[in-house]
Amino acid sequence: MSVTTYWAEYAWLPHVNGPVVERDVLVEVADGRITRVAPDGGPCPPGAVRLAGLLLPGQANAHSHAFHRALRGSVQVGSGTFWTWRDTMYRFAGALDPDSYLALATAVYAEMALAGITSVGEFHYLHHAPGGGRYADPNAMGHALIEAAARAGIRITLLDTCYLSSGFGAEPTRHQLRFSDGDSDAWAERVSALKATDHARIGAAVHSVRAVPAGQLSTVAQWATAADAPLHVHLSEQTAENDACLTAHGVTPTRLLADHGVLGPRTSAVHATHLTDQDVQLLSDSSTNICMCPTTERDLADGIGPARRLATAGCPITLGSDSHAVIDPFEEARALELNERLRTRTRGHWTANALLRAGGEDGHASLGWPEAGRIEAGALADFTVVALDSVRTAGPPPALGAETAVFAASAADVRHVVVGGRHIVKDGQHQLVPDVATALGTTIAALRS
Ligand SMILES: [Zn+2]
Repeated sequence: MSVTTYWAEYAWLPHVNGPVVERDVLVEVADGRITRVAPDGGPCPPGAVRLAGLLLPGQANAHSHAFHRALRGSVQVGSGTFWTWRDTMYRFAGALDPDSYLALATAVYAEMALAGITSVGEFHYLHHAPGGGRYADPNAMGHALIEAAARAGIRITLLDTCYLSSGFGAEPTRHQLRFSDGDSDAWAERVSALKATDHARIGAAVHSVRAVPAGQLSTVAQWATAADAPLHVHLSEQTAENDACLTAHGVTPTRLLADHGVLGPRTSAVHATHLTDQDVQLLSDSSTNICMCPTTERDLADGIGPARRLATAGCPITLGSDSHAVIDPFEEARALELNERLRTRTRGHWTANALLRAGGEDGHASLGWPEAGRIEAGALADFTVVALDSVRTAGPPPALGAETAVFAASAADVRHVVVGGRHIVKDGQHQLVPDVATALGTTIAALRS
């Protein structure tokens, strides 16, 4: 068994009293896992891989729609609403096939790797051909996403998404036909053909209470339970969804999900922006994870979700870049605290350590990778190294490395990324996708033409 030894100038490590920044840390890796972590190891020994900066757990991007990356910039012209943004999104969705999605998603996941993301939760509903026709492989699009993650060197949880209706039982619109399997049994049959690999795990998703009729929610929940798989769901991002749900069913979306067995510790509610007191109680009683996507929620003018309140009530909090208006896990993390400061006009709701836990351990657990997100023996060897000597990060004492990373660093400060012991980003360069910017530019331009 070959052992690789990494030497980190600084590392953010678990400690009985909470994480601390240690210096001169040796991290030994074998067979894709961390086998030993030793702080205060002195200077970099001969044969070790030197990592200057602060070593952190690889970050989990718990909510992604890879193809939304193609909208960047295009949706910043004029005003519009969430719903007009969605019309633009549907146009790009209509242009994708398995080959072009493989190319685009490879570039997007490579961008994520460069930003320090080592696992992505892909909330995937673009299943079929335009108009709803089936590909020869009914999972061709899902397989393209799994292959894209492999090419970019990161882990993926393919959250295959049940999407059947344009709203509370209404037929799918023309654009939505390719999202739909017809009914939840057909969804379950197709998803059951997807198989996990070393870098990929399969999870389930309910697009929303709009898109899955109430009578079919339990099929998805039961599939996830039987597969011991994560289950994700968009929840109350827009007040219009709450209003329509109350009209259709007389209860809030959270209550509807609870009544059909969708909530629980394997479940992640994404956004959870507009909740009642009882909704918060239902989510906390069921230990449901909450995935906040702050850069998307502010981009789409959704509002500020009650993340702090939910966390205090006992819900683990995770983070996602969702529409990829930007891909920067540090920006997502600090936005939780900064949003709360603006709302309350007080500081100090989230520590940097808590925010790194959201992007690390809790994010990974919500994606079905509980053995990732910590720098300790036995964990998967997934980590990232942030420069502490860039124009953004130079100055603070290294003991405040976590605060510096969360509140001042950007994705551009990521120097190294290791996934399963494989060094996929070295000195800021992706080792598998040589020119990520060109790959993004080329694939997105092709979709626009
Ligand atoms: Zn989403």
